[in-house]
Amino acid sequence: MTIAYLGMGSNLDCPYDQLTDAIREIESIPSTSLIQVSSYYKSRPVGPQDQPDFLNAVISVETDLSPGQLLDFLQKIEMQHGRKRIIRWGARTLDLDILLFGDRLINTTRLVIPHPELHKRPFVIQPLYEIAPGLEIPGHGPLKNLVNFINTADVQKVSH
Ligand code: ATP
Ligand code: CA
Ligand code: CA
Repeated sequence: MTIAYLGMGSNLDCPYDQLTDAIREIESIPSTSLIQVSSYYKSRPVGPQDQPDFLNAVISVETDLSPGQLLDFLQKIEMQHGRKRIIRWGARTLDLDILLFGDRLINTTRLVIPHPELHKRPFVIQPLYEIAPGLEIPGHGPLKNLVNFINTADVQKVSH
């Protein structure tokens, strides 16, 4: 059993519903159970600015799957939500990233864990800190220290 932290984002087709439905679908992934769900946070897009604001959240799951198997299920869920990859960092109905997978360090063509941008992104750090304030990020130290470096004004909590 491994605890994994997943980042979620949406800025198309009713983001609140996209995230809420995706959480329910993640709950039904085999050998995987949902542990925690953060509040939802609104943030400005990364990359192209001519797109709607994002809604982001972080959840934790406990899983017996391998990181690759978990990514397969998450990508299936993205597809069910009509995710299309058109422009890098462009608008999307649903994005599901594996932020952390236990204390594993992974660097393959398909998977980089911890997620390479995790430590720089307020919309990831803020919700992650809400559900796991004591977390250590492999390669980056205590999450608590990262929180001090981010601009929390960029991220607004919209619900609990
Ligand atoms: P970013 O990774 O900067 O947040 P993105 O989420 O928009 O960008 P995607 O188009 O969703 O990027 O994913 C591109 C590829 O990233 C996926 O096909 C997947 O193989 C790879 N990838 C590498 N590491 C991870 C990870 N930790 N979680 C999810 N996908 C990952
Ligand atoms: Ca992403
Ligand atoms: Ca992604």
